[in-house]
Amino acid sequence: MKGKVYLVGAGPGDTKLITLKGLECIKKSDVIIYDRLANDEFLKEAKDGCEFIYVGKKSSNHILPQDKINELILQKCLEGKVVTRLKGGDPYVFGRGGEEAEKLFDNGVDFEIVPGITSAIGGLCYAGIPITHRDYASSFHVITGHLRDDEEKEINWNALANCKGTLVFLMGIGNLKHISEELIKEGRDKKTPVALISWATRYNQNTTITDLENAYEIAKEKNVKAPSLIVVGDVVKVRNKLNFFENSALFGKKVVVTRARKQSSYLSDKIKLLGGKAVELPVIKIEKNNNQKLKKEIENIKEYTHIVFTSRNGVEIFFETIDEMGLDSRIFFNLKVCSIGMGTSEELMKRGIKADIVPKKFVAESLFDEMKKTLIKTDKVLVPRSENARDFLVDKLKEICKVKELYTYRTIIDEKSIEIAEKVLEEDIDYITFTSSSTVKNLISILGNNYKDMLLNKKLISIGPITSKTIEEFGLKVYKESHIATIDGLVDLLIEDNK
Ligand code: SAH
Repeated sequence: MKGKVYLVGAGPGDTKLITLKGLECIKKSDVIIYDRLANDEFLKEAKDGCEFIYVGKKSSNHILPQDKINELILQKCLEGKVVTRLKGGDPYVFGRGGEEAEKLFDNGVDFEIVPGITSAIGGLCYAGIPITHRDYASSFHVITGHLRDDEEKEINWNALANCKGTLVFLMGIGNLKHISEELIKEGRDKKTPVALISWATRYNQNTTITDLENAYEIAKEKNVKAPSLIVVGDVVKVRNKLNFFENSALFGKKVVVTRARKQSSYLSDKIKLLGGKAVELPVIKIEKNNNQKLKKEIENIKEYTHIVFTSRNGVEIFFETIDEMGLDSRIFFNLKVCSIGMGTSEELMKRGIKADIVPKKFVAESLFDEMKKTLIKTDKVLVPRSENARDFLVDKLKEICKVKELYTYRTIIDEKSIEIAEKVLEEDIDYITFTSSSTVKNLISILGNNYKDMLLNKKLISIGPITSKTIEEFGLKVYKESHIATIDGLVDLLIEDNK
């Protein structure tokens, strides 16, 4: 098989700022070779078995030299692999992408380049700075601040100082003194506004505003470090009005998401879209039971008058089971379908089933109150659900009619989180979110005896009353509880808390 290399620009950091084409490359690759500035969250999008090779360790001296990187990309491709070489920003903006691609050309290898949003433009945008503006700048110049001697000679400081356009220096923090001195010396007004933007477009973006004259001292005082952009020009003034990202509701906040890996993306995405960081610590994992008993009941489904679903997983697993039996939604034709929670009802809707009974409050008590209005002694209710569910609903229904409860799955501890839990919680965390009682129980069981030390000083956010009760039973304090027991309700609560 013939290999192929995609040189892909990952954008400046915010994972939504990659191109559709770039993402497709990540998804179909056998190998991903990435560096420090390409957000490693993209690796989650890769297919199973994809090999990840990191070539950008900054803190050690073991950065793979460029010629070795070029060789590595080539070798993987010659092995017949589809390779994505993922680079921060745009591959051709100071990324040495040109050299990597030339090497591929010289060796007759098939390759494509996927451009990306460069930090030199996108990073400014997220700091509220338009790179051009009719009132302030009609050109822009992107310059490397990491100058070798021969490059230094190449830079015409006089032209840069006098061109009036916006100047953006990449890799320039270590050279800031020299850069600002040269520009002032060659005639740029020393009061020209300067912005220093670190980790642009990420939750930890940090922007410092100063001017040419003071830039070096201020950067030293504020400990501005790489990766940072240096922006010189009057466009910086517009930031007062256009700083949308740093003003977003969860900007800078770190929120732990404890729900199962498979289900975490909706909540994580919302957090990220609001400028925060979603720290995924999935403490539960769904394990499907051997559903022979369920299959038997489905064969006798005609005997039932009602079926109750209490979670998305319950619906998913039920439908997988009927699918295995060669059946479909038509088995519901004579049943009243009852559902707790918006997610559960949505999952049913996806399969063409509109639940008949959906209580306003998403708890078993409310469902029971609704059901008891019409339920009669001769009815028979099927409740396929989790082994970890509460007894309340089934016990109460049994007082009225026949009920068959079947455990179709269970939630267990996601062992992958055991190793990382303590480390994650040692970081500066702003919130820990709990979306079910199992998330609480499992996190505590992972943390062991000294769970209180790790959790007492954290803001624990609960999705609803049952989850809150579990938190309190463990002697912990609920910081806030969602007004509506849904993921959207929980996100609204986080927004409200940051107003
Ligand atoms: N190809 C990249 C640039 C690579 S050079 C691009 O198009 O963005 C590396 C330099 O880019 C860093 O030293 C820094 O100056 C800048 N840079 C890249 N990403 C950045 C980010 N998220 N925030 C601030 N600076 C960034």
